Amino acid sequence: MLHVTIWNEYLHELQDPAIAKIYPHGIHGAIARGIAADDFDIRTATLNEPAHGLTDEVIQQTDVLIWWGHMAHDRVQDAIVEKVHDRVLNGMGLIVLHSGHESKIFKKLMGTRSGRLKWREADEKERLWVIDHAHPITAGIGEYIELPAEEMYGEAFHIPAPDELVFISWFEGGEVFRSGITFHREQGRIFYFRPGHETYPTYHNQDILRVISNAVRWAAPVPRMAPVFGNATPLEAIRGHRTA
Ligand code: ZN
Repeated sequence: MLHVTIWNEYLHELQDPAIAKIYPHGIHGAIARGIAADDFDIRTATLNEPAHGLTDEVIQQTDVLIWWGHMAHDRVQDAIVEKVHDRVLNGMGLIVLHSGHESKIFKKLMGTRSGRLKWREADEKERLWVIDHAHPITAGIGEYIELPAEEMYGEAFHIPAPDELVFISWFEGGEVFRSGITFHREQGRIFYFRPGHETYPTYHNQDILRVISNAVRWAAPVPRMAPVFGNATPLEAIRGHRTA
């Protein structure tokens, strides 16, 4: 069983009736429903719950954390970001969606100021091209995913060079963007996935949900012994070197 926690800021849906109409149970609710599987144990957590829904117990029990945030990154408590950060380094998977590129946790893991990028809201077409055809995150996806209308994110995107480039987006207005990228941080795996502006039904799209579901499986912790550090006794005698 994979323990998945979907964290959503959950403010747009409560404040804007047009957005509530697209996501009556919140973005977290749509994703939870969309990726449901027999071997996923899914819970959700939101900003306004005590500890943002991320108590020590929840963080410890979570195998993969999904993160959507936009207008209230600064309201996420630093102490909780620290705990999530530690847990990622110890092997919890993290999937950062859309405007989560500016979340405290993503910036901390990337080591960049803001993950700055270009953006535009013009109801334009987005085509996400599969770049890594061997990557498990692209399982079951065709040559590309097409979204009829999305917000545009364009390069430059100030992040460290990703470990893997899985998708590149093209937008009708001409820009391109590294929209599906992976990073390894110590024992943790991170996937950033661009689509998902709150005014579009992106998290009802079957291909988008499939990518998120694939990413959960890819990012899940690998059961193995903890790495060993520090001064090491040689495994066999080293010639010409006297050991104490
Ligand atoms: Zn957006």
